[in-house]
Order: sequence, then structure tokens, then C-alpha cells
Amino acid sequence: MIIVPETEIAGLVTPADCFRAVEGVFASMADKSAHNFPVVREAIGHADALYGFKSGFDRKGLALGLKAGGFWPNNVHKGLTNHQSTVFLFDPDTGKCRAVVGGNLLTALRTAAASAISIKYLARKDAKVLGMIGAGHQATFQLRAALAQRPFERIVGWNLHPDMLSRLEEVAKEEGLPFEAVDLDRLGAEADVIISITSSFAPMLKASQVRAGTHLACMGTDTKGKQEVEAEILAAAAVFTDEVAQAVTIGESQHAIERGLIREEAIVEIGAVINGTHPGRTSADQITLFDGTGVGLQDLAVASAAVELALAKGVAIEVDF
Ligand code: NAD
Repeated sequence: MIIVPETEIAGLVTPADCFRAVEGVFASMADKSAHNFPVVREAIGHADALYGFKSGFDRKGLALGLKAGGFWPNNVHKGLTNHQSTVFLFDPDTGKCRAVVGGNLLTALRTAAASAISIKYLARKDAKVLGMIGAGHQATFQLRAALAQRPFERIVGWNLHPDMLSRLEEVAKEEGLPFEAVDLDRLGAEADVIISITSSFAPMLKASQVRAGTHLACMGTDTKGKQEVEAEILAAAAVFTDEVAQAVTIGESQHAIERGLIREEAIVEIGAVINGTHPGRTSADQITLFDGTGVGLQDLAVASAAVELALAKGVAIEVDF
């Protein structure tokens, strides 16, 4: 069995590796050669923790396994990150455990890859201004990955807790781009692409604040009840997602579906655009929205890439198991 510890991931796996891995598995999901299994997420009644696992099988990539972990809010007092996860990969021919891979950094990279993929396939080619809603742990990964997809000229940002926006400003500075903290009216009026990545349970961005031609990647809503943008935005947009079943239950789409504003059948898996079986954006004026809920197959894809890279670079730890 191969172990790739969390401490090795940063030196092994690049955002580009994750982009390729996630793009490939989204395509496999759309052609039905890869499936996610039902998600388990439970409050364990200890340490205020939420624990669960996401699992699946990619028949093409031969990735079988699960990501186990969750949210331990008191970790911050122990010098640990609150989100903890580990990926387990199994040999699909024998069921033997093939690898254990640290999943914390990989989660941020695979989530950033998903919104970056949506920008690659759905944003207007002439997008110049990137709008960021959210400035937490995930947001800097989202920002970096997005900047690789279009020649953005400036970044505007809004966050409920404005003091956190300095994190985004630092990334913008590193990338040589101007950053400005703005209100949501200005963000919507100026941004060509908007990424939302917050823990919000109420809509922040209103339909009246979004202009024609915008691409939105809504990445924060991954649980029942969470919401980042008004459901009316989805009604006005062409809606894409990683997986329809998750979008309508735990994604941003849950609210528009509940209110009868959109139909489940109208939501398109981004893999269909990658495969070329759906055209994606059909006009410069169209609003496109990617509902990124985060699927287990993304975790298996990036963990598999980490294992291959660890083997190739001779840093994989191999143990008898
Ligand atoms: P974090 O705790 O580091 O940051 C939270 C962010 O949300 C901050 O910007 C904070 O200011 C903002 N926020 C907090 N409470 C808010 C509220 N009530 N209203 C509006 N904004 C609020 O978290 P993170 O690790 O950056 O994760 C952000 C979100 O992304 C979480 O909801 C997490 O579950 C989700 N997430 C989704 C995926 C996916 O695949 N879609 C993957 C990882 C994380």
C-alpha cells in the first residue's frame, strides 16, 4: 500500500495537475463511465464535529475509493485546520487498499479546479474583470486557479467580513493585478466572471446586480440550506453543475428547484460541455452559472494523480498491508 502524506502534497501536485484530473473525471461522469455514490455526512455528537465520506468509481480511470473526513470546529485551538480529510484508494480488481493520501490541500485544489474548468468552458473569451465573493481558506485557491483561465486585468472583491479581503489583495499583488474592495452593486456591474465561495445560508448577490454575459461559479453551497445567490439568478441563467443529483439537493440549485424557478432536466453537467455534447454558452449576452457542489470523484481523481506523481518522483511510502 502507498502512503502520500499531507506534508508531501504541496511539493508534488500542481494546480494544473488537478485541473487535468478534474476535467477528465467530469467528462467521464457525463458519459456515465464514472459514478458518485451517495454521500454520508453526520454530526457525530463529539467535539461538535461533522464527519462523512464521499465515494465513487471511475471505470475509465480505474479510480475506486472514498474521501473520509469533515469539519472539526475546535481544531483551530489545537493549531490544526478545521477541515480534515483523507482519501483512500482501492484496487478495483481486488478490493485491496492501494493508497492513503492526505486530502486537505487536495480538497482546496480540486475545488478551485472545478470553478476554473467552468470559467474555461463557459466564461466569455473577452472576460477582463474577476469578481470574488468570499475571502476564506478556499478563496485564494479559487482566485489563483481562475486567473490562469482568462487574461483578467483586475479583481474586485466583497466579503461579509471585510478585514479578510486582504488575503485576496495579497494574491492579486503576487499576480501583478489591481485589487479593489467594492460593494455588491459595483461587483455585479463590473465583473465579467464572479466566483462565490462562502459559508452563507442566505443569498448575498441579487438578480438585479448581475448583468448580461456574466459567468458565475457558485462554489460555497455544498449543504442543504446554504445559499449564496438569489434563486432568480438561476432562473435567468443557463445552469451547469458537476452533478445534477447533488446540485438539486445540496447545491445552489436546491432553492430554485424548490421554488419551481428551474427544472432539474434543464441543468447541464459541465462534463457534457467538456465532451462536446453540449455547446455551453450560446451567446455573449447569456448568463451562465456553474453550481459547484464538490463530488467524491474529484477527490479520487486528484488523489490518483498524487499517487502517480509520488511514485514517479520516488517519494511514495510503500508499506505491506
Ligand atoms: P472559511 O471558514 O475559511 O471561510 C468562510 C467564508 O465565508 C469567509 O469569506 C467568511 O467571511 C464567509 N462567511 C462566513 N459566514 C458567512 C455568512 N453567514 N454569510 C456570508 N458569508 C459568510 O471557509 P472555506 O474553507 O473558505 O470554505 C468556504 C465554503 O466553501 C464553505 O461553505 C465550504 O463548505 C465550501 N466548500 C465547498 C466545496 C465544493 O466542492 N463546492 C469544497 C470546499 C469547501
